[in-house]
Amino acid sequence: MSSTPQSDVVGLVSPKTGVHWIPVIGLEVHCQLKTWTKLFCGCRNEFGAPPNSLTCPVCTAQPGALPVLNREALDLALRTALALGADVAPRSKFDRKNYFYCDLPKGYQISQFDQPYCKGGGITLSSGKRVRLTRIHLEEDAGKAIHDRGPTTLVDLNRAGVPLIESVSEADMQTSQEAFEYLSTLKQLLQYVGASDCDMEKGSLRCDVNISVHPAGEPWRTKVELKNLNSFRNVQAAIEYEIVRQVEAYESGDPARMPVQETRLFDAVAGLTRSMRKKEDAHDYRYFPEPDLPPITVGAEMLERQRAMLPEMPPARRERYQAALGLSAYDAGVLTAERPLAEFFETVARLSNRPKEASNWITNELLRCLSDPELEPTSIDELPFRPHDMALLIEMVEAGALSVQAGRKVLRAMFQTGKSPKELASSLGLEQISDTSALEGWCREALVGKDKIIADVKAGKTKAVGALVGPVMKASKGSANPQLVQEILLRIIAEG
Ligand SMILES: [Zn+2]
Repeated sequence: MSSTPQSDVVGLVSPKTGVHWIPVIGLEVHCQLKTWTKLFCGCRNEFGAPPNSLTCPVCTAQPGALPVLNREALDLALRTALALGADVAPRSKFDRKNYFYCDLPKGYQISQFDQPYCKGGGITLSSGKRVRLTRIHLEEDAGKAIHDRGPTTLVDLNRAGVPLIESVSEADMQTSQEAFEYLSTLKQLLQYVGASDCDMEKGSLRCDVNISVHPAGEPWRTKVELKNLNSFRNVQAAIEYEIVRQVEAYESGDPARMPVQETRLFDAVAGLTRSMRKKEDAHDYRYFPEPDLPPITVGAEMLERQRAMLPEMPPARRERYQAALGLSAYDAGVLTAERPLAEFFETVARLSNRPKEASNWITNELLRCLSDPELEPTSIDELPFRPHDMALLIEMVEAGALSVQAGRKVLRAMFQTGKSPKELASSLGLEQISDTSALEGWCREALVGKDKIIADVKAGKTKAVGALVGPVMKASKGSANPQLVQEILLRIIAEG
């Protein structure tokens, strides 16, 4: 694979000079692993606990405390590597990355430098383009320094020692859209394999961008690092701003404006990037091997155990939904966006034996309820009812016991109460009347004096009967099954 992906349409053609500028983008993604405990000690790995309540001598760096690798973190890291098609090193090691900051009590971070546990792999975008991964390494998170409480800085070490994997991509992307899709796909994969909840608001997924621009056909130029990107939208906005900034700087010809190797922060409010530190201020981390931890060795059996735990991933699932269940590509995409949703759908489809109806009800009605600000559960994990109830609701609508309209009302009530659809349909008075004796009475009444319609129907114009369905529905106060009403009307006319 070439290191400079080819494309003739991407980039920016300068309106001033006509030069075709090509952006070069690589991403570094830090992801907190969803383990029970921290990477090197037994403290709980949990967000939102009281400050410094999840600490011990190891993660607060007391003299003599020694780290021990958390096997669960390694397992999740391995599973992620396998899902990305990467190569796991049979032997890798930890290193100390030295720097001084108040949220880092040891004065160094335990990370992996020259021998990461994983190399290669990648993510295929919807265009078919492959974005390659350089490496993934395992490391510990730092604590949190809180600067906005007056003149003092507060330190919370609950996060110190939380396991992280850092995925470094090759600079294979050229547009903000590609970066967005890469991130979304990576996030989906991490969630599917159960490695992380990837909640950017809680900081469990964090992203840095490396970006440069060069005229088409020329060598790559100086890259700039963008930080402080706390949403995928901000990643996109920062990339778009930075491409224009760099192109304008080069075209100005002003030596003072030339892009330099530096770290820039994105200001989401102002919508621009600002220089944070230049290369000359860059840290020299003085990496050296961590003497307190043995090397990581990964045998074939260990790897196979993790491979066996990989779920069916979204691309395979999407294909199966289309080929075996007859769903559209769009619906298959919606249903596989998150693993809990895909699993909910599959259970409902199996229980009701109606995959298409299950897909319609879930992609339309259920997702609408989940995004409705007036309804409480906003996540599929928090639904107060089970797939079994959803399947039952679908069966009731398909059997004519509920109209589609009434089915929607019952679903909303299921959201609010968690009760079964049968119970709600009857307590809300929404059950369709399919009892033919009651319907027949209303139908006979409706036919009184409608000789013209009766004659039309007898002459073969069966559609004429439609005019009588309304009055019967009215008589039943809307609870009759319109399909059945039509059938009964036609039967009475034929018999008469
Ligand atoms: Zn600890």
